[in-house]
Amino acid sequence: MQSGFRFRLYPTPEQASRLLQWIGCQRFIYNAKVSEDLYFRVFARKSLDHVGQFAPQDQQYSHFITEATPWLREVPSQVLRNGAVRWKQAYSRYWRKLGGRPKIQKRHGTQGVWLTSELFRFEPVVQPETGQRTYCLHVGTRKWPVGVVRYSAHRAHAIPASITLSIDAGRWYLSFANDDGVPEPLEAETANWLAAFSEEELRARTVGVDRGVAIPFACSNGSQFDLKPIERDRIAKKQTAARRWQRKLARRTHGGANRRKAAQRIASLRRYEKDVRRDFAHQTSHALVADPKALLIVFEALGVQRMTRKPKAKRDAQGRWEKNGSRAKAGLNRSILGSAWSTTKVYTAYKARRVGKLVVEVAPHHTSQECAQCGHTHPDNRRSQAGFVCQCCGHTDNADHNAGRNIAQRGVSLVVSGEFKPRQTKRVMRMRKKTVGAGCSEFTLGEIAVSRSAGNSAVLRSMNQETPHLNRHRRLGGGSVIMTMLG
Ligand SMILES: [Zn+2]
Repeated sequence: MQSGFRFRLYPTPEQASRLLQWIGCQRFIYNAKVSEDLYFRVFARKSLDHVGQFAPQDQQYSHFITEATPWLREVPSQVLRNGAVRWKQAYSRYWRKLGGRPKIQKRHGTQGVWLTSELFRFEPVVQPETGQRTYCLHVGTRKWPVGVVRYSAHRAHAIPASITLSIDAGRWYLSFANDDGVPEPLEAETANWLAAFSEEELRARTVGVDRGVAIPFACSNGSQFDLKPIERDRIAKKQTAARRWQRKLARRTHGGANRRKAAQRIASLRRYEKDVRRDFAHQTSHALVADPKALLIVFEALGVQRMTRKPKAKRDAQGRWEKNGSRAKAGLNRSILGSAWSTTKVYTAYKARRVGKLVVEVAPHHTSQECAQCGHTHPDNRRSQAGFVCQCCGHTDNADHNAGRNIAQRGVSLVVSGEFKPRQTKRVMRMRKKTVGAGCSEFTLGEIAVSRSAGNSAVLRSMNQETPHLNRHRRLGGGSVIMTMLG
């Protein structure tokens, strides 16, 4: 089972400056690869010298170390190589339609460096007082040591094959993914197991979750989840402060130290909100999954991204702008996004999968207008925000609780009827195994001659040319494309 870990890291000021240097150099190599690729695709292929050559997609980086960049010699070569590997992997994700083309990484925002096993080691340590086994993280090589970097592991972990050290608004993090080798129960198997229950039995083991604006999460078993009032107050205060600092930032000179300080202040003010929301999503999803009575958890299929779009601009007959309620919509969007609707659902799904429970999505229409007792559906059933009164059988309930029961019922019908189809998920994980676009090429990949220095010195180097790219060119009248295949 794959699990991701993200721990706080506490480097000393010297270690932090060394790591920042590594981050900068890795980003430089990545960006140099991006620009080189752009040069080849946009210009070089069209010039006479390069007709028939492909943009090189390999992990070469040594030609970026020149007299103009002596500082690249002050970091371990693996850091630079990993920059090129990251670029290569980003490109192969692009060919597999898992993402866009690699693009220039900015100097601002979250920054990180990807370290492979040559650059770090975890040494087991036994705490003398508690007898607890922990690890001590050594970073660096013999020539370029960083030393023991402190980190706090809030849960047990194994030794990973590679790690990422990153800094976000002044805070350092250690993150990695691990596979413990234990297979995860498949969604389809869980669904089959649940489908064998009778409808009443499954009804008793199902929780329907209604996501609303007034109460972010209301369940069919009566539990409700919302941010604490103190958290809401603090978020509001920090938002006000962030807006004030945003105005200050706008008046400060570009590239100046004070502008940078203002940007850092804004980032740390906004981080609180992000942290609170993530924590809320984790706590809510944990509570939903940990409930021993719940085997099936049902959500409405809401397109949160579509729901929180800006409203379209309106014009009247004379072409003048009319009011379209965008201010009010902005407020609603804030409250929807602020209650972490999608994050909580995503977290619930993966936590449930680990313990062999199932999360399904059902159609959201009329869940708040339908009577959970008799099934009568009418807008009049819901006269007020909180109260539900059935116009047919007189059933009264809390509106969100009623909606939760409807959602649970739809989920039960979906699973019992056997119509539930597990969704195919895209793998966007960074693979350590080398993957060459297999299965679509009839020739093996060999050596291709590529000259990178403006066509005057042909440099031979091995490269793994991406096959979909080659095939496309071969299909488009391959005769005009000249390729030098060696070996
Ligand atoms: Zn009714």
